[in-house]
Amino acid sequence: MADVLIIGNGAAGRRAAETIRKGSPNASILMVTDEPFPFYPRPKLSLGFMSGEIKKDDIFLKPDFYSRNAVSLLFGRVERIDAEARVAMLRGGSALNYSYLLFASGAVANKPRWPGSELDGVVTLRTLADAEDILRRAEGQSKIVVAGAGILGVEAAEALCKRGASVSLLVRGGKDKVGAPALKPEQAENRCDSMIKNGVNVELDDEVERFEGSEGRLERVVTKCGAVIHTGLAIATIGASPDLRFLEGSAIKTARGIVVDSELRTSTETAFAAGDCAETSGEGTEKQQYGSPYMNAMKQGEYAGAKIAELLNQ
Ligand SMILES: Cc1cc2nc3c(=O)[nH]c(=O)nc-3n(C[C@H](O)[C@H](O)[C@H](O)COP(=O)(O)OP(=O)(O)OC[C@H]3O[C@@H](n4cnc5c(N)ncnc54)[C@H](O)[C@@H]3O)c2cc1C
Repeated sequence: MADVLIIGNGAAGRRAAETIRKGSPNASILMVTDEPFPFYPRPKLSLGFMSGEIKKDDIFLKPDFYSRNAVSLLFGRVERIDAEARVAMLRGGSALNYSYLLFASGAVANKPRWPGSELDGVVTLRTLADAEDILRRAEGQSKIVVAGAGILGVEAAEALCKRGASVSLLVRGGKDKVGAPALKPEQAENRCDSMIKNGVNVELDDEVERFEGSEGRLERVVTKCGAVIHTGLAIATIGASPDLRFLEGSAIKTARGIVVDSELRTSTETAFAAGDCAETSGEGTEKQQYGSPYMNAMKQGEYAGAKIAELLNQ
């Protein structure tokens, strides 16, 4: 039985664990993650790792975090929650009992829906495993397509270009949409110019029409403007959404994310949610929205962690 169970070992979960430990020195804290790695900051994937400037071993921040904070880290996937009985069921059947629960389960990359998206070679980017897979696939490709020019698409295109790949970035809009909404229009235009200068083929006002291939493998990207780009690798960077399937049938209220109140409490008294998985759109939740997604995850993790520590100490 854990005093606190944290589902997710990302920015929100890690910051929450640290905060709970500070506020409640004797609490037992168990984190569970379905990624086979200790904590790493996702921004480093596109800012350093994919360009080859940061080695894999250097991506893991302070691996002694768990021992220093007396946090148990369990590798596994939570498949079901019984919020009333306060038990989480893991894939494989084991049960984890807890007093307080924090959902810090983040989001998963949105899957593309263009015709041909199921072809091998059409991929997304969210995890270290995804980034490693992309680098493996990129070897031997004379061209790579990045479809979607939010900040993630921009960074991925720049990183692969730095490695010497020929990258086409498809932008649904003009220069002012490059990196939007993270970049303001003027920043977007400057970033677009610098990408072009550095060798990225920035295709403005264009997007994927369909993927084509044979024997299940991607061979071409056909764009709405009629361009045909011969490639075996297309990275769809079209946002991310919480994966809430493990909450189906539970008492936890969900909408686009896990619905929380202004104190990040879910519809169940003893469960909180923080970071990308939390939906802060209800009344009074504005105070829980903190700028960039990464900062938001950390700040919410800290807030929820402090709240849980307070409850443990009552
Ligand atoms: C390549 C990349 C670059 C980015 N760059 C930036 C940036 O520069 N600035 C910025 O603000 N944001 C950036 N982001 C977004 C930012 O990283 C996220 O907003 C942030 O990581 C969210 O943290 P989180 O803790 O809420 O979720 P996550 O980091 O997604 O962590 C959630 C964890 O929970 C695990 N999990 C989920 N469900 C279960 C389950 N059922 N059982 C067990 N484990 C589970 C997941 O596998 C994951 O490890 C970037 C994202 C990516 C992918």
